Amino acid sequence: MRLSQLFGKTMRQTPSEAENVSHRLLLRTGMIYQVAAGAYSYLPLGWRALKKVENIVREEMDAIGGQELHMSVLQPLELWQETERDQAFGQSLFTVSDRRDRKLVLGPTHEEVAAEMVKRNVQSYRDLPLLLYQIQTKFRDEPRPRGGLMRVREFIMKDMYSFDTDEEALDASYTRIAGAYRRIYERCGLPAIVVDADSGAIGGKESQEFILPADSGEDQILYCSDCDYAANVEKAEGMKRPNEAEEKLPTEEVDTPGIVTINDLAQLLDIPRSKTLKAVFYSADGEVVFVVIRGDIEVNEAKLRNTLKCHELRLATEDEVKQAGLVAGSASPIGISGIKRIADNSIMLGANFVAGANRPDTHVKNVNYPRDFAVDEITDIASAAVGDGCPRCKGELLSVRGIELGHIFKLGTFISERLGATYLDQDGVEGPILMGSYGIGIGRLLAAVIEECHDDKGIIWPAAIAPYPIHLCSISADDADVAQTAERLYSRLQEEGLEVLYDDRSESPGVKLNDADLLGMPLRLVLSPRTLKSRSIEMKGRSDEEAVVVPLKGVVERIRDLLSG
Ligand SMILES: [Zn+2]
Repeated sequence: MRLSQLFGKTMRQTPSEAENVSHRLLLRTGMIYQVAAGAYSYLPLGWRALKKVENIVREEMDAIGGQELHMSVLQPLELWQETERDQAFGQSLFTVSDRRDRKLVLGPTHEEVAAEMVKRNVQSYRDLPLLLYQIQTKFRDEPRPRGGLMRVREFIMKDMYSFDTDEEALDASYTRIAGAYRRIYERCGLPAIVVDADSGAIGGKESQEFILPADSGEDQILYCSDCDYAANVEKAEGMKRPNEAEEKLPTEEVDTPGIVTINDLAQLLDIPRSKTLKAVFYSADGEVVFVVIRGDIEVNEAKLRNTLKCHELRLATEDEVKQAGLVAGSASPIGISGIKRIADNSIMLGANFVAGANRPDTHVKNVNYPRDFAVDEITDIASAAVGDGCPRCKGELLSVRGIELGHIFKLGTFISERLGATYLDQDGVEGPILMGSYGIGIGRLLAAVIEECHDDKGIIWPAAIAPYPIHLCSISADDADVAQTAERLYSRLQEEGLEVLYDDRSESPGVKLNDADLLGMPLRLVLSPRTLKSRSIEMKGRSDEEAVVVPLKGVVERIRDLLSG
């Protein structure tokens, strides 16, 4: 490809809207173009890189027996209602109405469509297991698209679905696909780690994420200092530190004028926050829920949502709290009724807590569960935090930020049961098919490669993903000898089947070399009047410190060997 003709120009300036390195470099290299919030076009260079990522993913999916197909983006809303995932996805679901006013979903994922198809095509255990996948555009109405290709509303995803007869077979499929995911990230040059994750709107019991540790990442991962335990903070189970043991004392009211926060309360009474109980009100699908947790610990909304089995969860408004007959800031678990009460098990890890009195300017000392109040459910709804104990060993939890590169789910039977996707076993007994779901965002993977592989001059493409492995520059392109030699070399390399980006522009050497660094192809070749004098050419790997000058004679073979080795 001639750079003089390439659609998409490089930019000298950093675009002001860029939020992270990959966003900045994708815009500066002219690889993507923003069409709307969270919607991008890929320009030719970006599209080539994307296709290379896509092919790595395809090869690994095929290698484990995946069958590629292509499902319709348009999906009947009824299918989503049957599994109730229309509610789980809520406003993230893009819907359209057709001319007959029939509601359709622009697919954010394809479990329902895939299960329906399998239901029609699978009769017996002999038809299983099945691994079906596609690489296709998906739609999710993200509330806050951001970070270039990191969080978008229209995106290209590889989604695979597994169909098995029993738990053991599902485990085998899941393990096989996880292995393929590891190979994909390895081939893309990404040191991904596997962490336990919350299943969120997709559903199912068990799921894991593949995370690239990166400061720019949106996800917070907690991991153990001593063993291999690692989990997304939404899912992580930290061992809470118990308060010191003490004798239970009788309750006692205490004046706390103007005190509404835990911090102020702890300060006023000169006690650690861990000696207080915090009341938090949520609205779960419109119903006000009372949550009580130790004052030093935060509520984890993913865990609370799973506990309540609700779809929409948010903090209750002041009005909603008042209507429930409670006093925000001084709300108390004592004597509360007529409202769902959920407690975090941290309220058991200590004694003689200070809690609200459900009256302004008053709190109660020496509150003990279950002596002084009751709840409907006591479980783990706490956000694990740095410093908590590891749930598996005696280690301590540490934290790292990361980019989610992939998410795999054991769905089990919840989709197939609702849609009636069954099979007949060896004895002719009908049972639900067990499903798994496995996703990789292709565009985000491309962006993650740039986050991982760059320097202050530009991208450093891994050879496997570079839009072109070779960047050929002619310095003094107006010099007839240089131009002719460069043209000849360009043709010879292409005849060898090598992909070359050829900078044939009559720009200054500075501009051309800067662009070569910015665009980041693995191997740069520079032909100039100076190198031509000795019938040679300059060769430099993108991450090499120094260029080497090699004879023009035999250079094509040399490059071919270099790139294939
Ligand atoms: Zn551990």
